[in-house]
Amino acid sequence: MLALPTALAIAALAAPAAADMASGYNVHNPHRRLVQRAVTTDAASVAKQTFDFVVIGGGIGGLVAGARLAEWSNQTVLILEAGGDGSDVVQAQTIPGYTYHHGVAFGSPYGWNYTTNVQAEAGNAVKAYPLGRGLGGSGAVNGMFWGKASAVEYNSWSETLFPDGKYKWNWDNMDAAIKKATTLQQPAQEQKDQFQIPVDPSAHGSSGPLQIGWSKYMYPILANWIPTWRTLGLPISDHSAGDPHGGTIVPSTMDAAQGARSDSRTGYIDNNNSPNLVVLTGHQGTKIIFSDKKDKNGNLVATGVQFAAADGATTYSVTANKEVIVSGGTIHSPKLLQLSGIGPKAHLESQGVTSLLDLPVGFNLQDHVSTSVVFNTVEGVETWGELSTNPELAAAELAKWNADRSGKWTYVNEATGYVSMADIAGDAANSITDSIDEASLIAQLSGRHNIPTSVQKGMATQFALQKKWMKTNIGQIEIILHMWGPTPNSLVLQCALQHPFSRGTVMINGTNPFNMPVINPDYFSASADATMMEHAHGFLRTFATTKPMGDVVTIEISPGANFTGAALQEYFRTGSGTEYHPLGTCAMLPQADGGVVDTNLKIYGTANVRVVDSSVIPMHISSHTMGTTYGVAEFGADIIKAENTKDFLNPSSSSSGTTKPTGATTDSSKPTGAAPASTGESAGMSTGAKIGVGVGVGIGGAALLGAILFFMCHRKKDKGGPAATDKTWYENGQQNNQWSNDRGEAYPMHAAGGNSFHQRSLSHSGSVSTMATADLPAARRYDEGGRYSNDSRGVL
Ligand SMILES: Cc1cc2nc3c(=O)[nH]c(=O)nc-3n(C[C@H](O)[C@H](O)[C@H](O)COP(=O)(O)OP(=O)(O)OC[C@H]3O[C@@H](n4cnc5c(N)ncnc54)[C@H](O)[C@@H]3O)c2cc1C
Repeated sequence: MLALPTALAIAALAAPAAADMASGYNVHNPHRRLVQRAVTTDAASVAKQTFDFVVIGGGIGGLVAGARLAEWSNQTVLILEAGGDGSDVVQAQTIPGYTYHHGVAFGSPYGWNYTTNVQAEAGNAVKAYPLGRGLGGSGAVNGMFWGKASAVEYNSWSETLFPDGKYKWNWDNMDAAIKKATTLQQPAQEQKDQFQIPVDPSAHGSSGPLQIGWSKYMYPILANWIPTWRTLGLPISDHSAGDPHGGTIVPSTMDAAQGARSDSRTGYIDNNNSPNLVVLTGHQGTKIIFSDKKDKNGNLVATGVQFAAADGATTYSVTANKEVIVSGGTIHSPKLLQLSGIGPKAHLESQGVTSLLDLPVGFNLQDHVSTSVVFNTVEGVETWGELSTNPELAAAELAKWNADRSGKWTYVNEATGYVSMADIAGDAANSITDSIDEASLIAQLSGRHNIPTSVQKGMATQFALQKKWMKTNIGQIEIILHMWGPTPNSLVLQCALQHPFSRGTVMINGTNPFNMPVINPDYFSASADATMMEHAHGFLRTFATTKPMGDVVTIEISPGANFTGAALQEYFRTGSGTEYHPLGTCAMLPQADGGVVDTNLKIYGTANVRVVDSSVIPMHISSHTMGTTYGVAEFGADIIKAENTKDFLNPSSSSSGTTKPTGATTDSSKPTGAAPASTGESAGMSTGAKIGVGVGVGIGGAALLGAILFFMCHRKKDKGGPAATDKTWYENGQQNNQWSNDRGEAYPMHAAGGNSFHQRSLSHSGSVSTMATADLPAARRYDEGGRYSNDSRGVL
């Protein structure tokens, strides 16, 4: 069945609408009538097709990068996601409190349900290792805390870790990229006053696809949070402003007006009708396919991706005409690369994988490790315990949420703060820091993991930075107020190590892509981490007894105030676990320092494979990780666009100096790419015919010949240079305006579980998950509720 009648497609190509010229929409796009935006599970409609960009992983990195690349209407983008589209778990993903009480990250198809290996220094225990699996990735199942790291930490990427990098990954560029992703919804003044919420609007975006805001309902005890930090003499600030030291009440990734989670799916996909974007869910990328021939610089050239729905199911493939973008997250990106032959040679060969590139993929795993202390409260203090133990209350609050998106289920944990080494250890901070001997620590950790010498060199730079930061105000420990204790009259204070010295690994376990990899964060393998954690508990106990928190918190019931020294260490080593923030396994570092990707996010030794997700973050940060991942993806997408312009790929054809990606210089860091390269040849890559999605299946021979002839004509025309409209589209900076703060009607959530939430009304099948790409032309037009009118772009 044809996606569109071929004759119609040809007619459209021949008759560009005037509106196209005005909007900069590429009238010469040979695919534009042959592809329709889809979220589908129909592998057959995608298999054997050709896309300019194939993105593997539909989480934060993948959906942001994929959606931004699809802004170039003459580029086709496929995003592959192993999990579902979320339509069967609407309540559990959408309602903030449900995320905790009925979350799908654990024990459901929307989580990978992984565990670590035995953690020798953490109670000899196997720890749960939840990761999101579905559109939106971990961002669709996570705790929704929003935040950025400090300016100092981001600046260290470009100043210390990668000083000669082509693109400047620093505070200015990360801050701008994170702002580009977000729209801030301010809390009501009354709420701001009651809870003393520090909000600095200038620290946030105002027109990005991702909504951030505060729960409509906050538990009264939160009014004690900020004053307690003040009593301790610690600063209060909006933690997105570049100095997250001290206490705060953060926004969540939430459309506060709708009392609903906002994530990369709701922000970048649900309301995005780019006709050149296809999202295939329920299919896991199993291998990147490489050409037998290398490019002229000796780099591997990826030509496509294999994928399958499950172990033993049919394996399909697609062709990647330009690039393969790996966005599986910190655990799955290294896994896929290793399965594809890119990784530590010795390990790959021991597992039966032919090594194509010997790179330290999977080393440098860093994770925030976290423990909890439980306190009783005085009678009458409201906590989450009520919702979990009183079904009538839970149902009544759900009815309230359904009626007007208010009530207790809108609450997620938002009270947090970061403390420095001096805050937790006082005068002992400096001596603890000085006692860390980097050289012997590196030798010790290398012995545990057989760490390559390049990675060891990188560790030396990282450890020097960590020690430097231990003598500053950079947060070493995060303190979180968690409202859900084991009984209604209890709550939890959590502490989490922000800059661990321990380093771990992620390594494949055999050649079967459906095997869980071996995840070894090796918590507390550096004894300095345990020392910091012990001091963190001391701070946490002080916090709990400091007024006004001390007015409502009574005794410590777990582990108990008598747990100190070795007993306390035993408690937190055994009871600790991930704060869900793994990163660093495909580190953006110089190759000599154990790097896997360059500052353009391209894997060393490949012509066209990039990594865009949390795995490239080189070193841990004093923040939850999703904000930074949005920044990586937004800035990364700009770089990819810049590096796919005609002028970048073929500098000799440049007619003016304005199109150079200026990030390529050391004095300017922002990519300012101009026109997208034609969908014709790109340097060193496959020159296979470009046939858009939907063409091929059942097409008549004569019609196909006609279409190809017509298409070739257009390609020839494109080769002469970009259409004027191409150029202006990007140069005018319109990419920044593609998403506006026009979300009021974007999430009309009716009865939970209803399709309306997804803003995807369907034509034939009535179910998102069974919709074929071919169904789309008859689907709801975007101007019926979305922001883009396809009519204005000259498309159906
Ligand atoms: C339970 C939990 C709670 C968290 N809480 C917070 C929080 O409150 N605040 C915060 O800032 N951060 C939080 N995080 C961390 C944050 O969500 C992650 O840092 C962020 O999502 C990382 O983005 P990513 O793009 O790297 O990976 P992900 O968002 O995890 O996306 C990766 C996607 O790729 C898919 N995938 C993987 N391999 C393949 C393959 N081979 N083929 C196809 N698809 C594939 C996965 O299914 C997934 O959808 C939490 C994480 C978890 C798991």
